[in-house]
Order: sequence, then C-alpha cells, then structure tokens
Amino acid sequence: MEMYRTLPIGGVRQAFPDTASCQRRLADVRWPSGVTCPSCGDRNIGLIESRSLYQCVSTQRNLHRLSR
Ligand SMILES: [Zn+2]
Repeated sequence: MEMYRTLPIGGVRQAFPDTASCQRRLADVRWPSGVTCPSCGDRNIGLIESRSLYQCVSTQRNLHRLSR
C-alpha cells in the first residue's frame, strides 16, 4: 500500500474520483495488513456489500470496513 506524504500526482480529485475509490483508500488505511478478525485472527473474511461490513467466516463477527 502506498502512503501519501504529499498530495497524489494529478490531485486528490483525480486519484479518488468517486465514493468507492475514497472508501477503498480509507479501508486500506484502516486495514494496512489486510482485513483480520480481531477475535480469532482469521483472514478468511467476507464482505456484506449491502451493509458495508466485513464478516469473519469462522466467528461471524461483523467488522466495520472503516472503523474498529
Ligand atoms: Zn473471527
């Protein structure tokens, strides 16, 4: 994952033109090593697109995409 220390070339609007690209970027910042279940450490995580939640396949724990 690339961390920006300066504004991206072409500007923020070009790098993140829509809500989905902003959400992907925020999720990369939130989960820099990939999504991992804090309960069991499993990386086998599904996405509930309609609720914008990740869910651990093992424990069914819901994980918000952007917060703890
Ligand atoms: Zn789990």
